[in-house]
Amino acid sequence: MALIVQKYGGTSVANPERIRNVARRVARYKAMGHQVVVVVSAMSGETNKLISLAKELMAEPDPRELDMIISTGEQVTIGLTALALIELGIKAKSYTGAQVKILTDDAYTKARILNIDKHKLKADLDAGYVCVVAGFQGEDANGNITTLGRGGSDTTGVALAAALGADECQIYTDVDGVYTTDPRVVPEARRLKSITFEEMLELASQGSKVLQIRSVEFAGKYKVKLRVLSSFEEEGDGTLITFEEEENMEQPIISGIAFNRDEAKITVLGVPDKPGIAYQILGPIADANIDVDMIIQNTGADGTTDFTFTVHKNEMNKALNILRDKAQSHIGAREISGDDKIAKVSVVGVGMRSHVGIASQMFRTLAEEGINIRMISTSEIKIAVVVDEKYLELAVRVLHKAFELDAA
Ligand code: ASP
Ligand code: MG
Repeated sequence: MALIVQKYGGTSVANPERIRNVARRVARYKAMGHQVVVVVSAMSGETNKLISLAKELMAEPDPRELDMIISTGEQVTIGLTALALIELGIKAKSYTGAQVKILTDDAYTKARILNIDKHKLKADLDAGYVCVVAGFQGEDANGNITTLGRGGSDTTGVALAAALGADECQIYTDVDGVYTTDPRVVPEARRLKSITFEEMLELASQGSKVLQIRSVEFAGKYKVKLRVLSSFEEEGDGTLITFEEEENMEQPIISGIAFNRDEAKITVLGVPDKPGIAYQILGPIADANIDVDMIIQNTGADGTTDFTFTVHKNEMNKALNILRDKAQSHIGAREISGDDKIAKVSVVGVGMRSHVGIASQMFRTLAEEGINIRMISTSEIKIAVVVDEKYLELAVRVLHKAFELDAA
């Protein structure tokens, strides 16, 4: 007997028939003698709908109230999923995040899980129940409802698996695993049988939408065995996320290509080239809780330098205002500008550690297509570039080919 956490995304619970399908799969696992915890997202499109509703009443909705509103999508699906299970003769109980006591910090709309009380769930599981838990939500120490950021149900699933010591966390989605890149952009993209945590982490942070990045971090930290599978297929092993030390097969040099259209670039021109400038620019940005991704500073020529960084598109204007209010005059910047017509493309692979020339191959491939690179950043297992948004799909296609990811 194993304890399995199954997380179902929005498309897997999009209507009653699909919810019935979920219930049937859960029933099969129960019949094999396993204990099952189910985590569900809101029905697909529902969270977006709730956000739009909120925005009709307030352009930038109050974050506490926004979380109150958008957490309701999952409350509907847990009840419906429990009903479908009960109809199949399976004992089932639904739980909101607050009912479980998924304790988070108070950063509304992007809260982090601090602790999960597993007692009620354990007792229910031991009494033969399937526990159906709302993804994406928790409560802070004062009992306010919080949400975990878009895609946060993945994190709920993994965090529950970690807290309960589950044998496996299965993430059911509308694709049958993790692909070399998004098949909607490159039809030749292939499913990976396995991928290491580090690679998955890079892919998620570079824009692959298959798993929320926090869920991967969580899984890596607590060594949760994680598998991505399709909820529309009966069979198939999906993609297993492995720990590198377990991996004895020869790894490909590049495992995947991720891209992200959600970033915007902010450039601060002509700042004095002296200690403390980076801090004076990025300090106020961090204080406003705005995530910064890439950062580039040029070496100064005439005693001044240019500083460029990227943030989420939605936060570009906020970041620009903060810099113009708080930084421009006293750091003496000549100009501060934003550009949201950019996109980021990243090639990821642990094999990069032991191979030279990956960066030059990437740059040559882009150059041959006349694609201008605006920013570059690297890690041990990733090379990311920012290009004009209009070249994104072309860049992904040619890189996929250049690194032979379409070869079987
Ligand atoms: N329903 C939330 C969203 O759409 C959380 C999730 O689906 O994981 O982002
Ligand atoms: Mg998702």
